[in-house]
Amino acid sequence: MNSSPSKPDSAAGSAAKTVDWSNFRDHIATADEQGRRKWIYPRKVSGPWFRRRTWFSWLLLFIMFAGPFLTIHGNPLLLMNVVERKFVVLGQIFWPQDMIIFAVALLLFAVGIIVFTTAFGRLWCGWACPQTVMMEMVFRKVEYAIEGDAPNQRALNRAPWTPGKVFKKALKHGLFFALSFAVGNVLLSYIIGWQALYQIITDPPAQHLVGLGFMLAFALLFYGIFARFREQACTFVCPYGRLQSLLLDENSIVVAYDYKRGEKRGPRRRAQQFGERRYAGLGDCVACNQCVSVCPTGIDIRNGTQMECVHCTACMDACDTVMDKTGSPRGLIRYASLNGIERRQALRFTPRLAGYVVVLAVLATVLGLMLYLRSDVEATVLRAPGSLFQQMPDGHFSNLYTVRVVNKTSREMPVELRLENPAGSLSVMGQGRIVVAPQKLSENSVLIELEPAAMKSGATPLVLGVYSDGKKLETLKTAFIGPRN
Ligand code: SF4
Ligand code: SF4
Repeated sequence: MNSSPSKPDSAAGSAAKTVDWSNFRDHIATADEQGRRKWIYPRKVSGPWFRRRTWFSWLLLFIMFAGPFLTIHGNPLLLMNVVERKFVVLGQIFWPQDMIIFAVALLLFAVGIIVFTTAFGRLWCGWACPQTVMMEMVFRKVEYAIEGDAPNQRALNRAPWTPGKVFKKALKHGLFFALSFAVGNVLLSYIIGWQALYQIITDPPAQHLVGLGFMLAFALLFYGIFARFREQACTFVCPYGRLQSLLLDENSIVVAYDYKRGEKRGPRRRAQQFGERRYAGLGDCVACNQCVSVCPTGIDIRNGTQMECVHCTACMDACDTVMDKTGSPRGLIRYASLNGIERRQALRFTPRLAGYVVVLAVLATVLGLMLYLRSDVEATVLRAPGSLFQQMPDGHFSNLYTVRVVNKTSREMPVELRLENPAGSLSVMGQGRIVVAPQKLSENSVLIELEPAAMKSGATPLVLGVYSDGKKLETLKTAFIGPRN
C-alpha cells in the first residue's frame, strides 16, 4: 500500500515521509490529507454476482445461527470452550490430551488457506468471511432500508437534526445493536454451549455477572465493528488481508480490471460506435466510476490489485451493467489472473502451487492417521500425592495410585484395569469397577499389592492394561515404590 517512492520530509534527519496524494499506493482510500476517516458510502449493487452471493450468504447465515443447536452423535457441531478446555469440531470431541491432533489440524487449515489463496485470491473474503457476510448482507441492507442509497445517506448525514433524522438514526442504531447482540450471543454459544448461555439468560442476573458482562462486551464489540469500524477491520486488523501480498502471484485469480481492453478510458458519446472508440484510441471503459461508487472499501479497482480489495464482486456487477448499456461484452472487470489479462493465459498449475499441494496432502494424511489411530479412552496413572508404601500384615507391600480415564466416546464405557507385570493384585477403591460417562473424565484411587519376591530394591516397574469389553485400549507404565535392600 505504501510502497511507492515519496518525497523526503523537509525536516532534516526525520524518518517521516510526505505522502504523494496523487499516487493511490501512497495512502489509503479511507483517510483524507489530515488523516481523518473518510466515510465510505457504497452505492447499492445488483446483478448476477450479487444474487449468487446473496443466496450463498443466506446459507452461511443459517449455518452460523443454527450451528450451536446442531449436533452430531449428540455433540455440538462446533464448540471452543477454552474455559473448560473442551473442543468439539464436527461432533468430534478433542481433549487437552489431543492437542497434537488439534495443532496438525490448525496447520492443515493454514496450509489449505495458503493453497486456496494462491490459486483463487481472496475468494474467502468476498464470499464466506463472516465480517463481509454480516456487513454487506445484513447490516448494509438494514442501512439501505432505513436511510436509502448512498446519496440519501450522505444527504441525511449533512442534514440538521430533525425529528425524522433522529427517528431514522435511532431505528438504525437500535437494530444494529439488536443484531450485534444476537451475533455476540451466537459467538458466546460457540464458546460455552447454548445450554450454558440459556442458563445465563434465565437464571437470576446476580448468579451470572461474568457471563452477562461477556454478553454485553460481545454485543458492544460487534456493534462497534459493524456500525463504525466496518471496512477498516479488513484493511487494518485482519491478518489474512495483510498476507495477500505474500500469497498472491501473477497466476492467482483475483477480481481484476482488464486494462488491455478498458484503456484508454474515456466517456462515451451518445450513439458512439465501438469502432469509432477504437479509432479514437479509446477502450471499453467509459470512465463512469460506477465500479468505484459501489466499492465498500472505497478503492478504484482500475488501479490494479490492492490490499483493501475484499473481492466482493460489486464492481464486477456494476461494470457489467454499464457494459450491457454500452453494448460491449461483459467482463471488463472479472475474475482473472494478471497473466490471464496480460498474456491471455489460462490458470496454470505453478511449481509453487504444486509444492503447497504436496505439503497439504502430507498434512492431511498425517491428520487422517492420527484421527484413525486415536484411542477411545485416554488414561493416565500417577502415584497418589504424599503416599510412599505400606507393608501389610501378610508381608505384602502396597502402593496407592490415582488413575484418570477420559472417555472420548458418546457412550458409557466400562473400563477394567489389569496389572500385567509383575504379578500382584490391583483393586479400584470405592466402587470396585470403573464406568466412565460419555465425554467425561473419571478419577479413581487404585491400590496395587506386590509380594516381596516380585519387587526390586527401591522402585519396581509396573505395567497396567486398560481394557473395555475385553479389548485392550491402552498400556500404562509407572513404578512401585518399596524398601531398598
Ligand atoms: S464501471 Fe466499468 S466502465 Fe465504468 S469506470 Fe468502472 S471499469 Fe470503467
Ligand atoms: S474493488 Fe471491487 S471486488 Fe474489490 S472490494 Fe471494491 S467492489 Fe469489491
